[in-house]
Amino acid sequence: MNTRLNNFPLPLPDEHILSTLVRWHAVQYYENFHKSCSGISTNSYNLKPDSIWRRIFNDILNILPDSFGLKDLIKHTLLNYYSVFQTNGFSQTTIVENCSSERKTTPKFQKFIKNTKEWRWCHFCTEEDEEKYGTSYWHCSHQIPTVARCKIHAVDLIGKCRQCNFSIRDLASGLLPSGSHCRQCGALLISVSKIDCSVKQWICQTSEYLHQSNGDSKIVIIKEELKNNLECFLESNRISVARRNHSFKVKNAIFKSILTENSASEFLSPEFHNSYYFRIFNVNSIIFGEEKYPPLYYLLLLKAIIKDDNKINQILGIDLEGSHDQSLSYN
Ligand SMILES: [Zn+2]
Ligand SMILES: [Zn+2]
Repeated sequence: MNTRLNNFPLPLPDEHILSTLVRWHAVQYYENFHKSCSGISTNSYNLKPDSIWRRIFNDILNILPDSFGLKDLIKHTLLNYYSVFQTNGFSQTTIVENCSSERKTTPKFQKFIKNTKEWRWCHFCTEEDEEKYGTSYWHCSHQIPTVARCKIHAVDLIGKCRQCNFSIRDLASGLLPSGSHCRQCGALLISVSKIDCSVKQWICQTSEYLHQSNGDSKIVIIKEELKNNLECFLESNRISVARRNHSFKVKNAIFKSILTENSASEFLSPEFHNSYYFRIFNVNSIIFGEEKYPPLYYLLLLKAIIKDDNKINQILGIDLEGSHDQSLSYN
């Protein structure tokens, strides 16, 4: 091992693995972030929170002590959250082993998902971390694209400044989260979100749960259940025109119900709204195709088509009872 890396920081609780590089860079002699990372990885460019996996994760694992294994590393990435919606062949070990190239792995249409471009933080967590660990850091759970709030402090996460549009997109900037004011224009970054419907809450809670899960793929059962609830789509092109028109109407209705739902637009980037919706949110392709879509697509479809939360939890393997204090529920 390179002696220069002896002091490489182990990730703090819930710290995103890329955040350790920023803390490492802060104690190096170099002004240039990539120079600080040169002994670790050549994959240190464009460090956004948008990846399922990328090679630099493996490279960091290689310089950490043997006692810190792949299983530990995964907890400091968003892999488990994403793997639930990937096919088995695409998830966990395969994705980690195959990621030897420069490229990173993201779902198809990731660019239409808001919150994948800039790093987000909770100003209360930041204050507490500074007090407890002497430094702030980028939390992993704050980077889940379909999570809007800090689950500990129940406040909205901070990202882009609405006043001047400043955001931290690339950790090569060497920046760690700080305070509740924009570091460029000084504007207050905290805002109370206008939309706080039950669907948004459900998406946030479900996403947090999936991030904490073991990441087992549920995509086969998800697609199966969606298919069963959308029987009219099961028919091929050979169906009658009337039947096809009906199917198209049903599809349109579902599509509309999903997108007019405020919570959906909150998690979709402006690019999505400027695009030809049907091409990028095609219900047929999402359910029948082989492409890997972002978790938000499946969560929205499950909510729109299956509706029943208990049933959806069952499909996603979410055991809410298990995480409750049983004695309380009987009182
Ligand atoms: Zn917090
Ligand atoms: Zn600003």
